[in-house]
Amino acid sequence: MSGTENEVWTLAEVRDKEIHPVSKELLAWGKKLSDSMDAPLASILMGHGVSSRAEELIHAGADKVYIIDSQSLENFRCDIQVNLLEDLIRRFCPSILIASATTQGRTVMPMLSARIGCGLTADCTELSVDPVSQKLIQTRPAIGGNVMADIKTRGHNPQMCTVRPKSKKILPPDTSRRGELITVSPPADLFASALTYLGFKPETSVGLPIQEAEIIISGGKGMKNAKNFAKLEELAGLIGGTVGASRMAVDLGWAPYSAQVGLSGKSVTPVVYMAFGISGAVQHIAGMSGAETIIAVNHDPEAPIFRVADLSIQGDAMEILDGLIDSLKKRP
Ligand SMILES: Cc1cc2nc3c(=O)[nH]c(=O)nc-3n(C[C@H](O)[C@H](O)[C@H](O)COP(=O)(O)OP(=O)(O)OC[C@H]3O[C@@H](n4cnc5c(N)ncnc54)[C@H](O)[C@@H]3O)c2cc1C
Repeated sequence: MSGTENEVWTLAEVRDKEIHPVSKELLAWGKKLSDSMDAPLASILMGHGVSSRAEELIHAGADKVYIIDSQSLENFRCDIQVNLLEDLIRRFCPSILIASATTQGRTVMPMLSARIGCGLTADCTELSVDPVSQKLIQTRPAIGGNVMADIKTRGHNPQMCTVRPKSKKILPPDTSRRGELITVSPPADLFASALTYLGFKPETSVGLPIQEAEIIISGGKGMKNAKNFAKLEELAGLIGGTVGASRMAVDLGWAPYSAQVGLSGKSVTPVVYMAFGISGAVQHIAGMSGAETIIAVNHDPEAPIFRVADLSIQGDAMEILDGLIDSLKKRP
């Protein structure tokens, strides 16, 4: 035991030797929790050639950074990360560990929870601390998105969860913050992996990934067919947006899964979200209600999407889309 038992930990993510922004979102969540518990906030930074980046995590809210810098961590290999995290947890006994619900977080955390025998709440949209028990309250949609469930891990530490990317704004960087940088040297056998890294193939899509886009043009089953759906790309191209989709549109093969917005897709918080021919099922709304302005086009005046829309346009999605594209093309 090292006297660090009440710490709140966040799992930083590294891509191409850079700290991925989700790491800083996690610190914004972590700061909220650690302030409520009057506990230190620490981030775990694992990678190769990343030590010099640790200060960024301090500037984003961490009081401490535990750093493991090794060539074996050059590329993401789940089993090594799980070995190292297990070792850190057994050594330092944190109270809470949060990771992002990214592909990496969703891969590492379930394996880790099984390894150390702790619970895991996936895909949280809100985190807080119970003022009486000081336990973590992990809030996430449940029963197909129809209720928001508050989940507590009563008997085990660390209390572990993943939180949806973009569910919290990054704190403004404070370069005057000072913190503790702790370099950890785990035993060599923990770096052994059963996995061979073959390479990384990025997905090719037009525009930014939906989670980073400021303008999202989404389509649903009301777009009728793939040809009509492709017009959304044209509009997105004209106004610098990215195409999103309902699950129906993805299931019909009109858009890739990476474009799916909603409970079983991605949560997005763009400045503008346009929904063409999307009914507004709770599972879809769960992923886009954080948009600043929602514009919905639907021919059904009773469509549930209109209940969350800032601007509701009742009409035929294709006619309105064609009209928009034409008038934008005529702009000087
Ligand atoms: C566990 C679970 C997870 C799920 N996760 C997701 C998720 O992540 N994302 C998601 O989107 N869904 C998700 N769903 C599915 C969700 O319940 C809905 O089935 C889905 O969102 C409906 O997609 P849609 O709005 O495209 O289709 P529909 O519900 O069929 O709606 C089509 C809409 O288009 C309108 N329309 C038709 N023709 C026109 C026209 N010419 N002009 C204008 N409007 C028109 C109709 O009025 C209708 O409102 C999930 C469901 C479950 C059970």
